[in-house]
Amino acid sequence: MRPRGANNHIDSTIVIITRRFTLWLSILLAGVVARPAACQATSPQPPKLVVFITVDAMRPDYLTRFSKQLTGGLGRLYNGGAVFTNGFQDHAITETAPGHSVIMSGRYPVHTGISANTAGVNDTTVSLVDAAGLGASPFRFRGTTLTDWLIAKDPRTRILSVSRKDRAAILPIGRSKQPVFWYALNGLFTTSTYYGSTLPEWVRAFNARKLPASYAGKAWQPLLPDSAYSEPDSVPIESNGVNFTFPHVESSSPDTATRLLSEFPWMDEITLDFAMAGVNALNLGAGPQTDLLSISLSTTDAVGHRYGPDSREIHDQILRLDRALGVFLDSLYRIRNSRDIVVALTADHGLTPFPEVHAHDPNAGAIRVDPRSVLQRLSNSLAAAGVPGHGLNFIAGVYTGNGFSFDAGVLELDRAALSKVRINRDSLVGAVRAAFLKVPGVARVDRISELAQRDTVKDRIARRWLHMFSDDDKVALVITLTPYNYWLSGYIAQHGSPNDIDAHVPIIFYGSGVKPGRYDEFAGVVDMAPTLAAIVHVTPQEKLDGHVLQNAIR
Ligand SMILES: [Zn+2]
Repeated sequence: MRPRGANNHIDSTIVIITRRFTLWLSILLAGVVARPAACQATSPQPPKLVVFITVDAMRPDYLTRFSKQLTGGLGRLYNGGAVFTNGFQDHAITETAPGHSVIMSGRYPVHTGISANTAGVNDTTVSLVDAAGLGASPFRFRGTTLTDWLIAKDPRTRILSVSRKDRAAILPIGRSKQPVFWYALNGLFTTSTYYGSTLPEWVRAFNARKLPASYAGKAWQPLLPDSAYSEPDSVPIESNGVNFTFPHVESSSPDTATRLLSEFPWMDEITLDFAMAGVNALNLGAGPQTDLLSISLSTTDAVGHRYGPDSREIHDQILRLDRALGVFLDSLYRIRNSRDIVVALTADHGLTPFPEVHAHDPNAGAIRVDPRSVLQRLSNSLAAAGVPGHGLNFIAGVYTGNGFSFDAGVLELDRAALSKVRINRDSLVGAVRAAFLKVPGVARVDRISELAQRDTVKDRIARRWLHMFSDDDKVALVITLTPYNYWLSGYIAQHGSPNDIDAHVPIIFYGSGVKPGRYDEFAGVVDMAPTLAAIVHVTPQEKLDGHVLQNAIR
């Protein structure tokens, strides 16, 4: 079947019908006249446009829980696409940067080189264009992506990647110097000097509209009547106990509203508007080559962190995202033939509910796990042995102590500092492991070299750590929490663990070359790039971790 929204080709004989009857007759005949072309088994031509949509922190159960209310773009993809219900970001550190490095490379973070947000895109050697803030580039990213494969096949290929977040705009297309834009806190879409020294005219024109400031003072109210939401609105653990009920009102100051926009559904709408402006300016999808548009939408992550995956706010955010994606796809299909477009959708990671909220997940007994006593003792003992440092600190989500760092369950030891004071690393690692195993809420503590001996088909935690790191050189220990537990770190809902709740994501293909259906086979996000490569008839330029999901292809 052709996707909904496809342009209809009216048989030329109809043009003799008077103008007055053309509309109703074309409606009447659309299905009949268009059917022969639409039902061809395989399009001889590859799609002219790949639209890859990443919804930051989108759990697959958002689609099932809210399916009856999804009347826009999400509903269209979910109901008309090839939907893999058993899809995973199959690596351990389920954060934004590693997840986005996988989506169009077809390789795990162990091979993309992007192991954590803290080792993502921040780059002090480049600066932002027309904006203040941290410079960003893909300098840590290794290897190629679908972007490179498309350009290798046809140098005319045009690329555009946009997001609210720098890492989510940069990493999907790898190292290629293409139009890549993200949102700066001054309300402008920016890029970095890695890509160019000035913003193109269409970006400056979009920025000049000052859309973010126009939301100053605006209230976010639920889209539907109260009866449409089964979630209680008043849950004090949400939003750190402040402003946890509707309406959520933007600051009346345009500057502040611009800075806070990322917490509101309107940020996604603006990102999609910006993407559409780019489609027009760059003439994406006009062919004959296959172009690529990557859009990563970040508000589901921001709202999920603040209010949790069981909140009325996340429910409403998904409905608003659904409507915004519907408007976007309708706009795209107005200027391009939908039969020339393949759409893919996934997420960079899932989200674990607040330990205090029990709604859709079996998280009874979930706790916040405090690593500080172990890390404090480690820092003290290394300091006493002569390892220099400033004692235990916690900055930007990372613990550091004398001779070590601890981030997202990963302990790194400073080999040089340890050997200088003649500390046996293996003995130290053994002692720290024993200490961590006594911490309530810790499920397991592993060395990477030992995990390689495990049955990585059955032991998914071992497999996911091995998809992050290849040996013990950099990483001394990896600590995994029991599912649904959090590392102690502020009162936001979290992700980042190797457990299914953070790794399970939607994987959907829709449109040109896609065979719609529900598929329950195990699918990895690493499989998306090779599958899209097959659909658009390009060859990956290196060995991939993923494989083609043949069931999804016509
Ligand atoms: Zn994310």
